[in-house]
Amino acid sequence: MSQSKPVAVVTGGAQGIGRAITGVLLQQGWQVMIADIDGEAGTECIHLFDNLGTVHFQPVDVSREDQVQQLMRTTHEKMGQVKLLVNNAGIANPFTGALEDLDLATWQRYLDVNLTGVFLCSKHAAEDLRNTRGSIINLGSTRAIQSEPDTEAYSASKGGVLALTHALAMSLGPDVRVNSISPGWIEVGEWQKASSRYQPFHSDEDHEQHPVGRMGKPDDVAGLVLWLASDLAGFVTGQDFVLDGGMSRKMVYKED
Ligand code: NAD
Repeated sequence: MSQSKPVAVVTGGAQGIGRAITGVLLQQGWQVMIADIDGEAGTECIHLFDNLGTVHFQPVDVSREDQVQQLMRTTHEKMGQVKLLVNNAGIANPFTGALEDLDLATWQRYLDVNLTGVFLCSKHAAEDLRNTRGSIINLGSTRAIQSEPDTEAYSASKGGVLALTHALAMSLGPDVRVNSISPGWIEVGEWQKASSRYQPFHSDEDHEQHPVGRMGKPDDVAGLVLWLASDLAGFVTGQDFVLDGGMSRKMVYKED
């Protein structure tokens, strides 16, 4: 067991935004435990990132308390005490169809993974995080504060994540800082496992509608994770950081 480098657990770290966060943390000298439900993607990441540092993969469904407990035990044994928990795992497709057809099981699954998973991972990492004076970073969404139709389960789950973030910050302070990142539109096609990777196509309008002139990239999120996890952000807790290229600051009135 190597204890020289700080230990991060990245849930959903095998694909998409989580994969980028894993890579950047490794490059910056962290050990990383990838906790993901997708075994194929997790194994692929081990091969991809092995040369960057100490990286392990533990298959886990973050909505299952027994599996989350095992995840934290394994992390402890293999790498040491957790200093950073990135609660990134989520069902990322916001669209669940018309409200009248939204079945309870689907609603419940979104809440279980996107919200209860954050609670369970935080609960079982809390002791380590207190000991290391570490931090938690949760993935919210701009959909916590604005919506399109047919996104009830996703939006509600992310609203819960923002509220849980400040509640955790109060309970775990002063030892542990807790913040969330609310991304806008982040293109993750090239960050999927090889068998489901795709080359995204986006129109000029997709990019230009963003005040920064482009859509988001997983590395945009990873950069903010790095800062929030560092001592530079030592006075920051209980906050949500919107990372959407300025989209949620735009007036949307249509012109005649
Ligand atoms: P993604 O689907 O590319 O990756 C999500 C990862 O989480 C996958 O590897 C998946 O296997 C894993 N996962 C799913 N359910 C899990 C579970 N129950 N237990 C453990 N792992 C599980 O998604 P993404 O776009 O990278 O999204 C990452 C996070 O960012 C999510 O919380 C999502 O809601 C949020 N987010 C994404 C965007 C975006 O535009 N991509 C925007 C706002 C918020």
